[in-house]
Amino acid sequence: MHDFKFKNKKLYCENIDVEYLARRFGTPLYVYSYSTLINHYLKLKDAFKSINPLICYSVKANSNMAIIESLINKGAGLDVVSGGELFRALKAGCPANRIVYASVGKTDNEIKEALNAGILFFNVESLPELENINRIARKLDKAARVAIRINPDVEAKTHKFITTGKITNKFGIDLNSAYNILLMRSKFSNIDISGLHIHIGSQITNGEPFVAAITKIIKFIGQLKKKGIGLEYLNIGGGLGIVYDKETPQTAMKFAKKALPLLKATGLKIIMEPGRFIVGNAGIMVTKVLYVKPTPKKKFIIVDAGMNDLIRPALYGAYHQILPLSLVSGRREKVDVVGPICESGDFFAKDRIMPKVSEGDYIAVMSAGAYGFTMASNYNSRRRACEILVSGTDVSVIRDRETYGDLIRNEKY
Ligand SMILES: *Cc1c(COP(=O)(O)O)cnc(C)c1O
Repeated sequence: MHDFKFKNKKLYCENIDVEYLARRFGTPLYVYSYSTLINHYLKLKDAFKSINPLICYSVKANSNMAIIESLINKGAGLDVVSGGELFRALKAGCPANRIVYASVGKTDNEIKEALNAGILFFNVESLPELENINRIARKLDKAARVAIRINPDVEAKTHKFITTGKITNKFGIDLNSAYNILLMRSKFSNIDISGLHIHIGSQITNGEPFVAAITKIIKFIGQLKKKGIGLEYLNIGGGLGIVYDKETPQTAMKFAKKALPLLKATGLKIIMEPGRFIVGNAGIMVTKVLYVKPTPKKKFIIVDAGMNDLIRPALYGAYHQILPLSLVSGRREKVDVVGPICESGDFFAKDRIMPKVSEGDYIAVMSAGAYGFTMASNYNSRRRACEILVSGTDVSVIRDRETYGDLIRNEKY
């Protein structure tokens, strides 16, 4: 499933001893496995090869240029959610006709940039946005291709902060309103509505919510057909879950088995937008134990990474497996693994029973490839971490650790 494995009780990323990387580049350190990254992309591509979907990797999961470039080179398209991500996508060499753009709050400038670049389409999330894209496209004398993002009102059975397909969420357009928009599509002189889009949430571990959403969409496509409205694309979004703890997410093959018959029945060209599924297990965050602090009620393992480096536990109560890079002692104990930041939310694990570690040991926070570095901040004036990409025995620094100078670069005083 991933290429982080113990050999002689030492954690390796492919053929490289991770502790060697920690000593050479310092900590906190993000380490990614190229083969894991590409394998996950290919797993999905293979599972769906009978319909040859365009797989648009979701840039926000991990937007490092080397990561997105690696995927583009394997034929992936990209799903972007801001002008900044569009800039990265184009700079990394993604053909514009493989870029789709979703966001409830696209600015005029972002819309202009995407129209000028000639992206495949916008995933449109409201009527006012559609009107605005039409206005800007008319000014630029362009035809804007769009897909209507439908909010199918299904339960994704995931954390409430990462559910996006319930009618109380801010995302997408309800079926009734979408129907009305499609009926009056000729009013939008510079818009070509070429598809529908859904994205119902993230870290979804079984196929049911997807099947429920796609089934609703198929019915909707049938209604549109009756009105003589034809479409070209169906974008089924991302959201495929991965293993962090004891989850048993469906494999790409199992997902394909459930979804393929439905997708084939649409007769449309299919687009997918996986983020976490591709990059989540392809990265770890390595940190060093600074102090072991017993208190009357707890034992705290204080490490040199903080919530500014990886915020998922603080933000979602997310679980990440934590492993020492060297499995020397067989003893286990119950600890809290915490960072140096001045917040009680600054933790990676609470009351976790894990192998005993001591000052100076290195530990790995596993499955940190997605929504790890991309959510990092400079809180507490901490420099963002260094990122390393390993391929076989090759080691590349794909982002230097920030300097103190970087912290104040844009400030005037
Ligand atoms: C975040 C996002 C994705 C990717 O979600 P994952 O759970 O990482 O697969 C796909 N599409 C859209 C529109 C998104 O906002």
